Amino acid sequence: MTQSESHSGGCQCGAVRFRVDGGLGTASICHCRMCQKAFGAFYAPLVGIEKGAELTWTRGEPAYFQSSNHVHRGFCRDCGTPLTYEAPDGLGLAIGAFDHPQEIVPTVQYGVEGKLPYADRLTGLPGTRSEEDEIALPFLATMVSYQHPDEDTDSWPQGEQQ
Ligand SMILES: [Zn+2]
Ligand SMILES: [Zn+2]
Repeated sequence: MTQSESHSGGCQCGAVRFRVDGGLGTASICHCRMCQKAFGAFYAPLVGIEKGAELTWTRGEPAYFQSSNHVHRGFCRDCGTPLTYEAPDGLGLAIGAFDHPQEIVPTVQYGVEGKLPYADRLTGLPGTRSEEDEIALPFLATMVSYQHPDEDTDSWPQGEQQ
């Protein structure tokens, strides 16, 4: 097992956490209709793990939906975060679930026949920073996040939460 590299992540609520010891494989986005549904999104960002790398569920474990005879998709049963694509042709982990997704750069697109007609134009849309949105400011000022932080924690939730 390669110990030179490790990557951690988990779901939004923190009930499910994972770590990959060893290198990550190809990072991709998949436009197929099944991935759109599984992620509730325009496409699915997934990354494989290198041969010899090891995936460990460090807290909890995913629930699964079998989306076809070949594929099981893992997710958090408590908060719904998509976590895995598991098939005979390999394992994919949801890039957005990693603690440092900015380090995992997609290099290929799959299922492009399913690409939504506006998908290629998304990055050209007008954008604002949250603090520039005056209507959202009071909401943001009073917001208390229940999202698990982007790092492993000894216990979670911390303190009382509803
Ligand atoms: Zn969760
Ligand atoms: Zn797909």
